[in-house]
Amino acid sequence: MTVDRDGAAAAAAGMAAAGTDAAGMAAAPAAGPRLLTGSPIAAEIRTGLTADFAAFKTRWGYAPTLAIVLVGADAPSAVYLQQILRTCQKVGVEGRLVEIGTHATADDVCNEIETLNADPAVAGIIVQMPLPAHIPLRTIVDAIDPAKDIDGIHPLNAGLLALGYEGFLPATAHAAVEILKRSGIPLEGRRAVVVGRSNVVGKPAALLLLREHATVTICHSRTVDLARQVRDAEIVIVAAGRPGLITGEMLRPGAVVVDVGINVREGRIVGDVDAASAAPVVSAIAPVPGGVGPLTNAILLTHLMRAARNQAEGRVALGSRSMVPTLPMESMP
Ligand code: NAP
Repeated sequence: MTVDRDGAAAAAAGMAAAGTDAAGMAAAPAAGPRLLTGSPIAAEIRTGLTADFAAFKTRWGYAPTLAIVLVGADAPSAVYLQQILRTCQKVGVEGRLVEIGTHATADDVCNEIETLNADPAVAGIIVQMPLPAHIPLRTIVDAIDPAKDIDGIHPLNAGLLALGYEGFLPATAHAAVEILKRSGIPLEGRRAVVVGRSNVVGKPAALLLLREHATVTICHSRTVDLARQVRDAEIVIVAAGRPGLITGEMLRPGAVVVDVGINVREGRIVGDVDAASAAPVVSAIAPVPGGVGPLTNAILLTHLMRAARNQAEGRVALGSRSMVPTLPMESMP
């Protein structure tokens, strides 16, 4: 299975020819599964964002800034940071890298975040993970103003998501569900399994599927008989960080799979799904690389756009933690 820009359209034609099963899911086409690729969707989102950020600048006289806090040097982070800074440049956002030394204390990092919270040019703040072991994650997460928490890690935003209100979503989880929606995969009433229950990917992805009216099961490292749970699912999102955890024989024929895992195996980036054995079984897959990954930054910048508008229009009072009553409340599950 290869990742290419035209794969999705070609495989879609194959799916149409293959028909659907009793549950309305496409059966695995003989030509191989449809590839749900993130790049074309990301490009479409970036085009919209470029216009939106240009209009924002015309109206408010400045380009909003995304502040990226990096504590200590970390090689994998460096690659990711270059990508996000490039994406910022493409759409007309100021990217500001705030580098803090490895030996900084939690107070040092919180002080830096407080400065960014108070800076009116900074519309959004993300903190690059992992943090050095001596810095408690919770302390740092709590320091970010929820109105600037565009990666949805603050407890207020997590709570809004759980209640079905419109806070900021964790970008990766949002991208994992968005790739399904934008690819026209039906979710309502489907049996979905999410493998992984982290606060940044698994849990929010499950809550987002619930919002789309899927029937959701969350699996984790203590789940007994993971294969049985997965085999029941029409939709499977995998975010475990375990290469090859999900194999073809665990999957229901015609299932739609979103692989979120990023692992390095023999010098190659691989996901959590064993692509070779899954390909003949599933009807569609968001692969690694090429699926969710390319979409995540574009989605993150849509959150930045919303944060910038909220702040410029005075819909949130920064620093006062008063975001909740001013956000649009949607009647979602
Ligand atoms: P994490 O915090 O380590 O969480 C992993 C989850 O997987 C945990 O809930 C864990 O269960 C579960 N798990 C581990 N082994 C399992 C097994 N054998 N069977 C079932 N469940 C198992 O990781 P994360 O931050 O959620 O990230 C997950 C993956 O997504 C990683 O590979 C990461 O690199 C990738 N990721 C990708 C992007 C992107 O943009 N595409 C962004 C962020 C992360 P317990 O809770 O029981 O420990």
